[in-house]
This record gives sequence, structure tokens and C-alpha cells, in this order.
Amino acid sequence: MSAPQSVSLSTIVTTDFAAITRGRAIAADRLEAAAGSGVGWLPANLALTPFDSIASPNPWGSFGDLRLAPDLSARFRTTATGASSPFDLVVGDVVELDGAPWRGCPRGLLRTAADELAERHGLILRMSFEQEFQAVDVDLPPAHALSFGALRRVDPFGPTLFAALAEAGVEPEVVLPEFGRQQFEVTCAPAEPVRAADRAVAIREIVRELGRNCGLRASFAPKVAVDGVGNGVHIHLSLWDKAGRPVTRDAAAANGLSAAAGAFFSGVLRHMPALVAFTAPSPPSYLRLRPQSWSAAYTWLADRDREAALRVCPTWTAGGGDPDRQFNVEYRAADATANPYLAAWALVRAGLAGLDAGLAPPPIAPRHPDGLSAAERTALGVVRLPESLEDALAALDADPIVRGWLAGDVLETYVGVRRAELARVAGLSPAQVCDLYQGLY
Ligand code: GLU
Ligand code: MG
Repeated sequence: MSAPQSVSLSTIVTTDFAAITRGRAIAADRLEAAAGSGVGWLPANLALTPFDSIASPNPWGSFGDLRLAPDLSARFRTTATGASSPFDLVVGDVVELDGAPWRGCPRGLLRTAADELAERHGLILRMSFEQEFQAVDVDLPPAHALSFGALRRVDPFGPTLFAALAEAGVEPEVVLPEFGRQQFEVTCAPAEPVRAADRAVAIREIVRELGRNCGLRASFAPKVAVDGVGNGVHIHLSLWDKAGRPVTRDAAAANGLSAAAGAFFSGVLRHMPALVAFTAPSPPSYLRLRPQSWSAAYTWLADRDREAALRVCPTWTAGGGDPDRQFNVEYRAADATANPYLAAWALVRAGLAGLDAGLAPPPIAPRHPDGLSAAERTALGVVRLPESLEDALAALDADPIVRGWLAGDVLETYVGVRRAELARVAGLSPAQVCDLYQGLY
């Protein structure tokens, strides 16, 4: 008997509230035919936790059906991960049975928010997710932080990763050895919000698959060890007009921000204590968001300071660079336990709230908030970010504007997932929490 023929598969995926990318595979040659109808999906999937339980109670129960419709322009395919069949991931939208957007689809929520930004304010956002991860469950040969040798010791992981990401269409920019133990980082070119979040998902999955095939498990968990360096997801944002001109920067303004960017980022700062419930949404997220760890611990905007929650990034004129086109602001209070669509959505919604309210641009803090008096912090509007997931959920509960951005049942599901995580880690030490999550992400 001859060996069975292998069929090329494409997996249509969605990324859920626990930031786990889940989906269903179909024969790749059926993908175009399936573009309109998609594959089956169900509302209760939105209540899945990172432990693969279903948060309970949830508003969906065992009832109901949806479709997961592939977006053929969001197909990430590469043969370079070392697996025996191609990596072929197609991002989908969760829709109702008649094709209408479903209110619980994170990707749909982000698209709607980005569309509103264009319609109401004529602004197009470009974003890029800069992601850090660590090789875990393996002792690599020792190498210095950031060193040439640190990347070479995992060869061919670096060049193969670059090739795989390029083939998949992610537009990788830099693959680097980072500061933490066995830590690496990948950056890619900016794109409009939905595509940027698609890329963030594709990067995570390609890194994990290639890592597995190179004998190293890649973990994107916010902290793999309590005393170690954190793994951040830094989200870079810039605003453009509909003609494709950069409009984030005003070189003449005191803080370098245009009026539009000032209002946008004031909105982000104002709502940030509640936003972290979406951008740093797991128990270990708060082991990372601590002062003096180059993550973010306060709601402050700074010029080129890596302790700031919002960092105005540097521009350069070397090599003929154009500062207006480079200028961007980096949101640092995010990690990979956050769904990238929802993290981006929360930032766009907060920015929109700032624009709609015509908020004044935020001041640049003169120094680290640890060194500011209480009166100075109040004058600058600087507050400590929540110090635990419990506190972040309380901040969300206390911010009716942010709560109003989601339908009631969707918000209930979201909070239910987070509460299931809190219940799971009750009684665990911080080290045990890190251990648990490094295995999940
Ligand atoms: N690892 C740091 C974090 O947790 C970031 C270091 C950097 O600036 O790249 O966000
Ligand atoms: Mg980094």
C-alpha cells in the first residue's frame, strides 16, 4: 500500500481574551472558497482561559453559533520554520451567521475603532509591536547580554527566524539578543492597526514554532523569573493624515507633539490605570510593571526615557533621515498575555476619547516619578499604575468611559476570564506564578 498523501492545511485563527491564538484547519486549496463562509465558531470560546477552562459563569453557556471567516489579505505562510508542513496561518474575523461583525471579536473591535479615528478626526494610526521573549527549559551556553555571541549560540535560529518572518510578509526589521537571561527581541515595520496586530500574532507563533524546531522553547510571558528581566511588548504609535503625511510631531511645541497627538496621548494617560486591564492583563503582568525595571510603573510621558509608560522615541537625521516620518510614541505598559487587537483597541479608544474631549497635550515629566513630590505628581497628573491584576480590574470598574467601550456581555466575559486567572493563582507565590505563566505563553 502506498503512503497516504499529505494535504496542505491552512489554519483560520482568532486570538481570544487570554491572548491564545486558536482556530480550525481546512485544506489550503479550499481557502478561497471558504472566504465568505468561514468555519464554525462559538460564543463561549470567548470565555476560554489560558488554562483552557471556560470562565464560569459567562453570558454564553452552551448555546449559539458564529463563523470564523478568513481574511485572505492576512495570510502568513512560510516553509522556513523547520516543521514538516508549511506554517500557514490565516487570521479570521468572528462574525454572526449572516456575516455581520460579532460584538465580541477583538479584531472587529479594533477595526471599528480605527475606522472611527479616520472618520471623526481624519487620522490614520500606524503601529508596530516590539516583542521580547526568552528561551526557557534549556540552558544555553553562557553569553554576555546583547552580545554577538548571544545570538550566534542559537544559530540558525536568528537567520532562519528572519527568513521565516520575511517570507510570511511580516516585514521584520531587527532580531536582537536582549538584556535578560536568554532573552531576544523581534521588531517589524509599522502598519495600520489591524495589520500590526496580525503581525504581532504571526511573530509569536512563528517564533514559537521555529524555536521548538531549534530545540528551544520561546516564552513571551511577562516574567519568567521574579528577579529576572521582564518580557515587554512595546507598542509604537504614530498618526498620519489621509494623504499619507505624518502628523504626530510639531517640532515647535514644548513636548514635540502636534495638537492631535497631544489630545490622543492625553486620552491614553488619563485612562491608563483602566487600560492596563487590557494591555497587562494577567497576574504576572504586575511583577513586570515595577519602577526601575524599564517597563512602566506610572502614568507619565517622557522624552526618550525607558521607564516611562509613554516614551517619545528618538529621531535622527543621520543618513538623511526625516524626523517627521520617524517620530512615534511608544506605549510600554503591555505584554504578551494581552490580546494584541484588544491592547491596540484600548489605545485607539482612549486616544479617541482624548481627541473627542479636545484634551490639552500632556506635559513631559521633568524626571522619574519616584523623584517627584506628591504635589508635583498631582500637578503633572502622574499616578502609580495598578500594582496587581485585582487593582487593575478595580481601576477598570472605576472608569465608566472605558467600561462603556464594550457591550455588557463582552465586558462581563472579559472580566470573567481575568477573575478565573486570579482564582487559579490564589495562594501561589510570585515564583510559582512566573513558573505557571512561562509555560502558558
Ligand atoms: N525588558 C523590558 C520590559 O520589560 C524592556 C527593555 C527595553 O527597553 O527594551 O519592557
Ligand atoms: Mg527591548
